[in-house]
Amino acid sequence: MAILKVARLGHPVLRRIADPIEPGRIKSPDIQRLIDDMFDTMAEYGGVGLAAPQVHSSLQLLVTEEIPDPDSDGGYLAQRSVVINPKITFLTAEEVAYFEGCLSVPDFRGRVPRIRRIRLQGFDRDGNSIDREVEGFPAVVYQHEVDHLNGIVFLDRMKDLSTLAYQLEFDRYWAAHAGEVAD
Ligand SMILES: [Zn+2]
Repeated sequence: MAILKVARLGHPVLRRIADPIEPGRIKSPDIQRLIDDMFDTMAEYGGVGLAAPQVHSSLQLLVTEEIPDPDSDGGYLAQRSVVINPKITFLTAEEVAYFEGCLSVPDFRGRVPRIRRIRLQGFDRDGNSIDREVEGFPAVVYQHEVDHLNGIVFLDRMKDLSTLAYQLEFDRYWAAHAGEVAD
């Protein structure tokens, strides 16, 4: 278990299309260790998701943190997850927009339109198939992380850079009304 170095914007690994992982390799010690290290790294830096290229491994692999449900006492919108070779299909044209941040674009926040409901397919860390529908904030997290596997960062998805803010100014001027906004 180790905390890995996070690639920051400008590092070419963030602009590459990551390589798929052969299904037979998923349970190998190197991939299992990478997954454990990615969870450690995500927790250390307080991320809700992390894609392998962000830790300099250009592989189709992402992890997400559990996401508490703000409207429920102790409930969760999503559990921790590992998705290998993910594929996203949009299930609606309806958009949602949240202020996103990124461990590879430290200290910035910006409002990004995303699709509200998606189908997520791929494999978990045991090599089992994943095929499920995800909606709302967890769907946004998956779209953000899958973008990393295709060399895209959230800044590329912003329609309007006027909402780009440093974290301190975000906390001061935007946070109070930064929740979900219909786009
Ligand atoms: Zn990111």
